[in-house]
Amino acid sequence: MAAVRGARIEPVGHIAGAIALRDTNLLQLALGLTPPWTVTRADFDPEARRLDIEIDFAPGSRFACPACGVADCPAYDTERKTWRHLNFFQHQAYLNARVPRIRCGACGIRTVSVPWARPDSGFTLLFEALIMAVVSAMPVKAVARMVDEHDTRLWRVVHHYVDQARARIDASDVTQVAIDETAARRGHDYITLFVDIDQARALFAAEGKDAKTVGTFAADLTAHGGDPEAIEEVCVDMSPAFIKGVAENLPNAAITFDKFHAVKIVNDAVDQVRRIEQKRQGLLRGTRYIWLRNPANLSDRQRETLQNLPTRHLKTARAYQIRLAFQELYQQDTPEQAAAFLKRWYFWATHSRLPPVIDAAQTVKRHWVGILRWFDSKIANGLIEGINSLVQAAKAKARGYRSIRNLKAMVYLLAGKLDLRLPA
Ligand SMILES: [Zn+2]
Repeated sequence: MAAVRGARIEPVGHIAGAIALRDTNLLQLALGLTPPWTVTRADFDPEARRLDIEIDFAPGSRFACPACGVADCPAYDTERKTWRHLNFFQHQAYLNARVPRIRCGACGIRTVSVPWARPDSGFTLLFEALIMAVVSAMPVKAVARMVDEHDTRLWRVVHHYVDQARARIDASDVTQVAIDETAARRGHDYITLFVDIDQARALFAAEGKDAKTVGTFAADLTAHGGDPEAIEEVCVDMSPAFIKGVAENLPNAAITFDKFHAVKIVNDAVDQVRRIEQKRQGLLRGTRYIWLRNPANLSDRQRETLQNLPTRHLKTARAYQIRLAFQELYQQDTPEQAAAFLKRWYFWATHSRLPPVIDAAQTVKRHWVGILRWFDSKIANGLIEGINSLVQAAKAKARGYRSIRNLKAMVYLLAGKLDLRLPA
């Protein structure tokens, strides 16, 4: 740290083989610098593929206090700093400057803000804007390789802009929420996603998949101007943890069990029936994916295989018919028709003499109200699938993400509809 005295400019360290550029007007214009900041020189080192631009402030300049804004503070001392900037053609470019500290009567000694970078960042604002644009299109690791920086430095930038944007979120009109969990890393960690259904945005991501996640969501909602008591509709899978969490934290919410998960319960039962039957019926070998699909989605080969099976005599085929019937529930026009349909289906399923199907029917029975609630809430299933595919994309972008915090930031970035306010 050197004391500022009059017009003295700190000497620039000599770089071997470097070319010092004397005409700095172009760089000054390109960087958009305004007084008191000027470009004093630039050193270009072709061997190191590096351009170093020196910036300094005019002697006797006065600065505003970065904390309270009081103007006209003289520099007290300076600290030399370097920032990575956008590449100069194919060469890395850096800005270098001595940054003044001021002594403010109210705030004490403070480092002034420079117009080209955030405090404590080693990148210029424009370099950060570039990073933010690129990380939503390709994995952070790949971006790190491309710009030749360590990925933890890039993650720091991502967190800064995502945190700032999330702090500005307005959740005051949120009344419908979809909750869904996703495995973060090979079945180890989970994150639970809370989606604002009306605006189709990922509102909150919590670590884990237990009842407590709903409590942390409710707190986050409140922190963003929302009201847990204003939540009227919640769409969840049949996880007892979420059901409990909703009952405890979102007291006025009616639960809809998401169609995808309801169908999955019955679909899993078909798969179990097939697995048991296959032990005696060798011809079922290799047919697993036929029974997991809808007839319209079968390949020609699968359709042929199915036609050649003695389906009349197969328990698996019977279970399959019951599953297809369950899906027809969602074609019913009114809540009354749906209730009558589900009653008939339940009778059929419980009289199927297929234990896995009977178990699935009992599960449906226990979640009866929430399954039929769909006919009132009509929560779009496509929305949850759409958000889920964004989460998969976030996982890919965050590959090798080191922490759940990084994954959550990527989910917000891709699915949060954030207003990032990037420097332009
Ligand atoms: Zn101050």
